[in-house]
Amino acid sequence: MSEPRCPTCEEHPLLEDIEERDVGFLGCTTCFGLFVTTDALGEYVKNATGSVGVRTAYHALLQDALDHLAGQSKRLCPHCQEPMRRMGFGEHPLVILEHCSLHGVWLDKKELTKVLRASRADAKVKGLDEGEGEE
Ligand SMILES: [Zn+2]
Ligand SMILES: [Zn+2]
Repeated sequence: MSEPRCPTCEEHPLLEDIEERDVGFLGCTTCFGLFVTTDALGEYVKNATGSVGVRTAYHALLQDALDHLAGQSKRLCPHCQEPMRRMGFGEHPLVILEHCSLHGVWLDKKELTKVLRASRADAKVKGLDEGEGEE
């Protein structure tokens, strides 16, 4: 059996179960990177923004990113130890995440915030955000 380890840190410390906004992540307490399934990340986006529309925008951006996966990363998936693929999420600025087609995405420190920001911006452009700022 192998327990999930940080794909980023030199010493590959064990990832720990972390809960944020009722969503389970695996987190590294050294680099503050996070691993999560793409669906769970969508739940997080919905819970953090209080908006189903922003989650819809997230899934659209995710699909777009998956349709245009970039090259292989040097980092290995914490679960299957296969190299992850780089994935550009959103635009202006693009958030570069790492993706395992079986297990989910790796987010470096602060990328969770960037995913939220990109999803919110996209929801606004598409008129999906039923929250503040109706014009
Ligand atoms: Zn780490
Ligand atoms: Zn994997």
